[in-house]
Amino acid sequence: MSLFTTTYDVIVVGGGHAGSEAAAASANMGAHTLLITMNLQNIAQMSCNPAMGGIAKGQIVREIDALGGYSGIVTDKTAIQFKMLNKSKGPAMWSPRAQSDRMQFAECWRNMLEQTENLDFYQDSVNGLIFDENKIIGVKTNLGLEIKAKTVIVTAGTFLNGLIHIGEKTFGGGRAGEGASTGITEDLVAKGFESGRMKTGTPPRVDGRSLDYSKMTEQPGDDNPKKFSYLPITSVLKEQRSCYLTYTNQTTHDLLREGFDRSPMFNGRIKSTGPRYCPSVEDKINRFADKERHQVFVEPEGWNTVEIYVNGFSTSLPEDIQDKAIRSIPGFENVKFFRYGYAIEYDYFPPTQLTHSLETKLIENLFFAGQINGTTGYEEAAAQGLMAGVNAALKTQNKEPFILKRSEAYIGVLIDDLITKGTEEPYRMFTSRAEYRTLLRQDNADLRLTPKAYELGLASQERLDRVEEKKQKTEETIEFLKKLSVTKEDINPILEKKNLAAISQSMKLYKIAARPQLTFNDFLSIEKLNNFIEENSIDKEIIEQVEIHLKYSGYIEKEKSNADKLNRLENVPIPSSFDYTKVKSLSYEAREKLLKIKPTSISQASRISGVSPSDVSVLLVYMGR
Ligand code: FAD
Repeated sequence: MSLFTTTYDVIVVGGGHAGSEAAAASANMGAHTLLITMNLQNIAQMSCNPAMGGIAKGQIVREIDALGGYSGIVTDKTAIQFKMLNKSKGPAMWSPRAQSDRMQFAECWRNMLEQTENLDFYQDSVNGLIFDENKIIGVKTNLGLEIKAKTVIVTAGTFLNGLIHIGEKTFGGGRAGEGASTGITEDLVAKGFESGRMKTGTPPRVDGRSLDYSKMTEQPGDDNPKKFSYLPITSVLKEQRSCYLTYTNQTTHDLLREGFDRSPMFNGRIKSTGPRYCPSVEDKINRFADKERHQVFVEPEGWNTVEIYVNGFSTSLPEDIQDKAIRSIPGFENVKFFRYGYAIEYDYFPPTQLTHSLETKLIENLFFAGQINGTTGYEEAAAQGLMAGVNAALKTQNKEPFILKRSEAYIGVLIDDLITKGTEEPYRMFTSRAEYRTLLRQDNADLRLTPKAYELGLASQERLDRVEEKKQKTEETIEFLKKLSVTKEDINPILEKKNLAAISQSMKLYKIAARPQLTFNDFLSIEKLNNFIEENSIDKEIIEQVEIHLKYSGYIEKEKSNADKLNRLENVPIPSSFDYTKVKSLSYEAREKLLKIKPTSISQASRISGVSPSDVSVLLVYMGR
């Protein structure tokens, strides 16, 4: 049956973080897009923590924003607290994080999508995929509809054959209160896809009115909060809500241990792997048995709700154990529960089955994005969604795929890691995964990516102009500093204040400003500099760029040169028809992995685990280098 007579350019299955960005990107690129999701009320629902960003993840949100995605805008519009993490470290590590109002977040996303041209919505559950041999041509739904499309992006999150666990209770579901999704995995496996199972969990939500905050430490937001979006349509927070910090103790741990024999984590009922870096509280006390306490962050779920997210207390232990144990935490003695914590197991598809454009290797025009690819986290999902949306739209326009290099974006690192190395446990981004993290900073995502977004049609001329102005003014300010000679009378009072050795003759300000103990603001008393700033409207954002240049240009240049070297290898392509079985001097393991991953370049081949430098040399010889 088909009530839909249109053949869509792009169908997006699932309106989570990946699906919402995918739908926005493809529609904004002019592709006629349909977003099918189980419940239109839950668009971009935050299944777990009501927060966006954090270490490395904050950089991803900035990149999404620079590429014309919506996650940064929605986060700014719904934020209740903002923090720049790692501010004591170098700028490569600065990571923005905001807590959002959970309900407003979903509402704001839906609003933004409703204002997006070329985007249709439909609430139903997709339970099958329609193929024409090795091409996808549409989807089937629970209501029996068949809807045709040139490309399909599956972003089903934790819903595929989802199984929820609380203590000894197990039931089907994609998230608390929502049904699981069946049919898609089965259709894909029948087509030859490999699937696996992963697990994740969430903590209880409690009534904030039942907590005693006097026993906890207040964690306010930043004094001068920033924001995620580079666009002027959002503003920084004027008012913020505080979080609170408390700790588990030995009693909590003993009470939790009482439930271990009824725990699905320990009695073998949960068989799949969970996120290593976001472990459940039972996992923490089991793995780090000698630790006397663990942090518990008490985080409000919004402006107008008393609901509290108990960060750090993710658990699937039985309700009675959760209830008893949490009461032993200072401030939680009289707690009232809104919802108990739970774990969920779900199907994922090892991402080595994808190309860099996130299209599957087995089925043409079929794309996967988000948790279905073995990742965890809203930011990782949203980034993949945006890239899949862009690439599905490009495919319908018969254009080359849009691929970001590892040296261009965390998003490039994320996708390259997934498709080249695969993942056997929920993958989350870290700064350590990026070899060029001094290049991939949160402050320069617009400089790196907005020109690309403009080419794709995802950034306006005005937006591009603003980025070019930022670049130009930064360069002009650096040039000015290089030329500006300052006298000892100008500088020595500043140096003295910082207990630094005085200078005996005039010097270029550029040289002095590079000293680590000094900041740009220290020099604002120099009249010529002040005049330059005023006459050229040099704002805080540009001053920050100049400051980073002054202090880190050595590292930045070194990373650029390393990246250029790698990019030269990136440019040595391996034809898709290349027959590795004929290359006898490859190790057995390398041959097997190369046949599976089918890397498109020597550089990608070199990143596959099991492919050694000598295997790379062999390949280089075959490619005529
Ligand atoms: P989701 O946000 O799950 O969205 C999937 C969407 O697809 C949903 O709207 C769903 O209704 C829809 N859908 C699914 N199947 C179909 C279908 N067949 N037809 C139509 N619509 C469909 N991340 C962390 O980083 N840390 C954590 O600690 C963490 N804990 C989590 C705990 C739980 C219990 C859950 C459920 C998730 C947790 N996450 C955590 C993961 C985080 O929620 C996801 O990484 C992120 O939401 C993934 O985004 P997504 O778009 O891939 O999928």
